[in-house]
Amino acid sequence: MAQQIVDAVHAGIRLVGFSLAGEESFVAAPDLNVCFDVGRSPREIVNIDHVLLTHGHMDHAAGVAYYFAQRMFVDNAPGQLYAPEPLVGPLQRLLAVWADIDGHEPRAMIRAAWPDQMFELRRGLAVRPFRVNHACRRHDGVIVEALGYSVVDVRQKLKSEFNGWEAARLVEAKKRGVEITERVEMPLIAYCGDTAAGDFLGLEHVRRAKVLVLECTFIEPDHRSRARAGKHLHIDDLREIVPGLENERIVLTHLSRRTALSDAKRQLVKTVRPSDIDRIAFLMDAPRRRPRGGERRGTEAGEGRPHESGEAR
Ligand SMILES: [Zn+2]
Ligand SMILES: [Zn+2]
Repeated sequence: MAQQIVDAVHAGIRLVGFSLAGEESFVAAPDLNVCFDVGRSPREIVNIDHVLLTHGHMDHAAGVAYYFAQRMFVDNAPGQLYAPEPLVGPLQRLLAVWADIDGHEPRAMIRAAWPDQMFELRRGLAVRPFRVNHACRRHDGVIVEALGYSVVDVRQKLKSEFNGWEAARLVEAKKRGVEITERVEMPLIAYCGDTAAGDFLGLEHVRRAKVLVLECTFIEPDHRSRARAGKHLHIDDLREIVPGLENERIVLTHLSRRTALSDAKRQLVKTVRPSDIDRIAFLMDAPRRRPRGGERRGTEAGEGRPHESGEAR
């Protein structure tokens, strides 16, 4: 498996990311100014103002302090990180410890996210956190359930009964206090982080997001029980999950280093219906790869010749 950060467009949304189970996972959507998880906080995410952290496992959260420190270093505003509520205190303590080590505590805005409590990133762009089926056990015994996040475009749209009305008539109706618009939400990306299957896959903003980012940690037939035990997905789970999903694109992450991308792709073809195969991609299978720290813009995934990785481990 190649070790470069990938940069590709999926269903019109540019995703920059890297994901290998146990090593590092993050997926940024630079045009939305959002990054899901931080991995080891590579340069590519330092200018992104909003981070949505799914859970505390090191492969997703290792770079939190570095993210805030690097933003200070390049004179960016502190940035906002949202995390499951029980992680907020420990993350703040982590930053405070850096003052003892480095002499500076990185300036940070760390905010709690709760399942099903929507919050706004900016006007017209909101986040719906949802509980997934994965957890971390803190050493004090507290189990911290992981969150997924849907980023949702929110706008006011003219109600259908007013379609075709002239502008002057609409203005007049509005003056009379008639509600001529309604709130419409369009889920752009649903990012599930690490998770086994669960009811969250039936949520409207997950099932119908333009892009669904879903993990697929195991592909070997004898690894089903490992997937269950670690609360991860096995590729076989996709057989049941995918038919219920309406996403334009499903992007799979979190393969293990043991798994060759070519094997995973072969297994995927055997697993899902032929009619679904074109809308499913592996994140790390982007056609253009670039060295860490590079600046190249993404291309539509699936364009051109796929870059086949020959490395098996
Ligand atoms: Zn992980
Ligand atoms: Zn995890």
